[in-house]
Amino acid sequence: MNDSVPLSFSSPSAPYTVTLEATVLSKMVSDCTRAGAHETGGILIGNYSSDGSIALISEITSHPKDSISSSVTFQRGIIGLKELLAARWDEGFHYVGEWHYHPGGSPEPSGPDIHAMRSIATNAKYSCREPILIILGGRPPREVKLSVTVFQANRPSVRLNPFYYL
Ligand SMILES: [Zn+2]
Repeated sequence: MNDSVPLSFSSPSAPYTVTLEATVLSKMVSDCTRAGAHETGGILIGNYSSDGSIALISEITSHPKDSISSSVTFQRGIIGLKELLAARWDEGFHYVGEWHYHPGGSPEPSGPDIHAMRSIATNAKYSCREPILIILGGRPPREVKLSVTVFQANRPSVRLNPFYYL
């Protein structure tokens, strides 16, 4: 894996392009590899370009300690996130979405995944009206499949391209 080139995901119908730092993908792959047959995940932290056309994901968290996971579900916890986001806010970075792992599976968002992202888009606590969902599927580290989807409260979600396959 090339650790220095950022990955870009876009679609004509998306509100912005998503750029993922290569270090972010590496961390995601190593978290998923460690999780084995269990789902894992966390939040995406980043910022938007001044014209709003690019969302840069500069950091992801591992699963908070109070997360609940099985081989087919992941409920992200909250321990430590408030403090981390407060510190990042001072540096110009904030919450931009969620990520999780589908062990051995497709990176396609499930019905509950879509429902959860729609409620984040309309939840004032998140202050994030167009949250991003990244799902890593496959069997990392040797097989990595990545989907990037942008959600909006009153519109269909938009899958960005490419469908990343390593
Ligand atoms: Zn899922």
